[in-house]
Amino acid sequence: MSELGDMGRALANELAAWAACQADKATLRARVQELEQWVNDLQGGRYINCVYCGDRYGPADEVPATIAQVLKEHIERCPVHPMSALRARCEDLESSLETARSELASYEARRSDLMARYTKMQFRAEQAEEQGLALRSALQSYLYPDVPGLREENARLREAAE
Ligand SMILES: [Zn+2]
Repeated sequence: MSELGDMGRALANELAAWAACQADKATLRARVQELEQWVNDLQGGRYINCVYCGDRYGPADEVPATIAQVLKEHIERCPVHPMSALRARCEDLESSLETARSELASYEARRSDLMARYTKMQFRAEQAEEQGLALRSALQSYLYPDVPGLREENARLREAAE
């Protein structure tokens, strides 16, 4: 009974701690939003330049997004920002990868075609060997027919000749 009471109290403590954490989280999230808005307000009141190409965005621009967002979008398409070179390099590599993949696929197709032809030729070679053996056996029977008594007769004639 008292053990159950202890467990209940422990559980209640855990729940209270969890609820406190949730409250802290909500407070901190609200604070982050406040600070982000503060940064946006600070940036919104002045001009911001791209340090690479000099493009300028400022308070007079009627943009629905924040200046930080506008700058981020500019950087993505700024021709002199280092990201442009990286993007070009990335596209280059992706294209090389695509070429390599397609070459690999064509090599694979060629390889399986050669394997199929090899298997077919191997089968034909086996057939040819079987036919050769049959022909040799037929030729042997033709050249050296198994006439009854012939071997004995040959032996007799050989002895007589000696
Ligand atoms: Zn720029």
